[in-house]
Amino acid sequence: MECSKKASTSREISLDRARQLKSRIQDYIDVKDSIPKGMALKYVLKQERLKQKMLSLFNATENDWDDWQWQLKNRIADVDTLTRIITLTDSEIEAVKSVGKEFRWAISPYYLSLVDEDNKYCPIKLLSIPTATELAPSDGSVDPMAEEFTNPAGSITRRYPDRLIINVTNECAMYCRHCQRRRNIGGSDNHVSRAKLQESVDYIRANPEIRDVLITGGDAFALPDSTLDWLLGELHSIESVDYIRLGTRTLVTMPQRVSDNLINILKKYAPIYINTHFNHPIEITKESKEACDKLANIGVPIGNQAVLLNGINNDKFVMRLMNHEMLKIRVRPYYIFHAKKVIGTTHFNTSVDDGIEIMEYLRGYTSGMAIPTYIVNATGGKGKTPILPTYLISRGKDHIKIRTWEGEVMNYPNYPTVPIEELI
Ligand SMILES: *Cc1c(COP(=O)(O)O)cnc(C)c1O
Ligand code: SF4
Repeated sequence: MECSKKASTSREISLDRARQLKSRIQDYIDVKDSIPKGMALKYVLKQERLKQKMLSLFNATENDWDDWQWQLKNRIADVDTLTRIITLTDSEIEAVKSVGKEFRWAISPYYLSLVDEDNKYCPIKLLSIPTATELAPSDGSVDPMAEEFTNPAGSITRRYPDRLIINVTNECAMYCRHCQRRRNIGGSDNHVSRAKLQESVDYIRANPEIRDVLITGGDAFALPDSTLDWLLGELHSIESVDYIRLGTRTLVTMPQRVSDNLINILKKYAPIYINTHFNHPIEITKESKEACDKLANIGVPIGNQAVLLNGINNDKFVMRLMNHEMLKIRVRPYYIFHAKKVIGTTHFNTSVDDGIEIMEYLRGYTSGMAIPTYIVNATGGKGKTPILPTYLISRGKDHIKIRTWEGEVMNYPNYPTVPIEELI
């Protein structure tokens, strides 16, 4: 009698579990609205104000603003112009000047319009405006990837059996302060010569095991449309190339780049994939959504390769929110790269533990769609190496021991595979 009274119905058990599940993300629900988001009205208004200020400073129109050539031509790259747009302290101005002698910087008007002047630690500011820490003595290397030893032809970097990179330019819409390719960025903009690109194409044609070609730089979309059209056409004509990937940060730093003309070019060479590089939800704006929509609408899947950066996104909730915001604009999280020690960028370095903690609080807590792979680049260019919290605790003869996302440890049966011929 007593027993049946106490026994919960299955509905009651489910409701209990649902309450418990909700409580697992209560901490996130409590803070997520306080994380800056590019789509939040407060930031939309700030962006518009800075945009109008720049339009009048440059004596330009809304049409100019929407034109990527105008954005590129009007990159802010001197302190005088910068301080006419945003307020900097004397020591910040000094820092920009002295860093500028050592490492170059340039910011597209669009990206600068995202700065939140009221926040000293605004991610946009930290990622785009030089700080004195870049000149602090450090043991950062200029080439942690040993790229000069992986260049079999033209401007190729080959580090894997079936795929490779063609470096096409060192130009970018913005020179990110955390750039892991600072060596390539150098002091001036140089597109790789047509002869070197041709040599790269010829190498791929002669090595049919290469089935995946990644065009990057710099920024693939820093190339003029005509060069992209030619290079994509060449690669598309090689039968052993299954698809082409383009690496570009313009969806984040200069979304105006995705012009109708570019769309018409990309359409011709399907299948094309794009990987971009969002690092913080404040970078996800109406403009970047428009660019991603145009690409998604012609069937170009977009992935994201974030870099794990101290003070920007080394926070489990910032990363979770960013991944959600990206999925809303049809960008699929692909990688989170552990930041290498690169000269001038070491203030952005984090421990590997920060990355593992982020991964720990993605799996289970949110959709698999929102979970990228955390990657450490093995020293000496030895390849991308995935790092995961431990879910497989041990392997026994007839069972494995696993840990669930909620931390429950249990045995799970593991029997040898019986060859199909012995069964049927
Ligand atoms: C990152 C990289 C690739 C692409 O690697 P995926 O894991 O397939 O995205 C290809 N070649 C080189 C040299 C690379 O560094
Ligand atoms: S867009 Fe990419 S390659 Fe260019 S500066 Fe930024 S991180 Fe470096």
